[in-house]
Amino acid sequence: MDLAHQKTDKILENLEKELNKIYKQAYFECKSKLSKNQKLIDNIGKTDDLIKRNNLLRKNNRLDTLLKQIMLNINFANVIAVKMINDEMINIYWFNYAYLGYTIEKALNSRIGFQVFNQNVIKKLLEDELNPFTLIAIDNLKDKGNVYSQLKRELGVGLLQGESITKLAKRMEKVLNISHNSSITMARTETTRIEGSARMDSFEYAKSKNIEVKKEWVSTLDKRTRKSHRKLMGEVRELDQKFSNGLMYPGDANGKSEEVIRCRCTMVAKLVDLKETKAELDIDERINKMSFEQWGKEYVKS
Ligand SMILES: [Zn+2]
Repeated sequence: MDLAHQKTDKILENLEKELNKIYKQAYFECKSKLSKNQKLIDNIGKTDDLIKRNNLLRKNNRLDTLLKQIMLNINFANVIAVKMINDEMINIYWFNYAYLGYTIEKALNSRIGFQVFNQNVIKKLLEDELNPFTLIAIDNLKDKGNVYSQLKRELGVGLLQGESITKLAKRMEKVLNISHNSSITMARTETTRIEGSARMDSFEYAKSKNIEVKKEWVSTLDKRTRKSHRKLMGEVRELDQKFSNGLMYPGDANGKSEEVIRCRCTMVAKLVDLKETKAELDIDERINKMSFEQWGKEYVKS
């Protein structure tokens, strides 16, 4: 795996850690909302008649008030999670586009004019091409109605059974975990899509400069990798052709969800007819010796 993919994995790893923190914090805040209602919960627990419990709970809309307080925390966590994921995508795009540009110029030993957009341009670019899965994931995280009704069911049942705060908190955690898992899925799926589309864009740029470039699928070979993606390892295609699984690149927004969700594969440039291509270029021997950092400092205006 190349440097940009390793760096992307690090960003994703940190992102997941941050998401874990957000939902852990939300859990503690939700639990403290339960504790503020300790007296009510104790009273319900002591009441042995189900109808009386129900009445206690419904009096002054107590259940609804409690649910609303908890939902505020859950929604807040979701909004922060979505924002955090989207912000990281800008870095992932930048790094992958720049690094692939560097590897292509280095292989050619020539400066073909790769420029890297500044962060604001990338942000705009990414906003314009939000894919359907991302939209579904964002909707899931923002779907107050769905989470609300799950929470209402869980807490309603727990309270009517006279459960303790510890048990009720467990039920709450279950609901919170659904949002947490959605955020992790979104982070992983988006990371691969953005990495793939940034690499695709860098190949397209090279092609626009008359460089013969093809794309090569690189599978992440670990326990989580799909069998079908293991087989794709090393498959080479023209830029405008789909890989054999129907995707234009790993994480392709137009691919089927079973090919895309939580995939961590990537793609590299396959330069063909290198000798002939190089013969037509202005060779700059310095580029071959440059590290990515040096190349970035010299050629990238951010
Ligand atoms: Zn994959």
